[in-house]
Amino acid sequence: MNRTQARDAGVRWYIPDTVCRLCGLYALRRTHGGKCRGCDITPNMDPREVAVIMGAPWYFPLNACTSCGKKALRLVKTGKCLGC
Ligand SMILES: [Zn+2]
Ligand SMILES: [Zn+2]
Repeated sequence: MNRTQARDAGVRWYIPDTVCRLCGLYALRRTHGGKCRGCDITPNMDPREVAVIMGAPWYFPLNACTSCGKKALRLVKTGKCLGC
């Protein structure tokens, strides 16, 4: 998706066709202003937040699941564990 398409679709953030020149990631970019969210990623950031910025549906958690005890992928939207 490019910025014009994103603006026409009325979305605030879009995943660009090209990597960011600063952080080198295909991270979410703001439709108005073109601000890249990938530039906000820090090494200490929560993996779920990073997944949100990258537009990924799943993330790999830092801690094992309290229900199944596995470090399995989790759904970004709900935090649902794939190992359960
Ligand atoms: Zn960036
Ligand atoms: Zn689990």
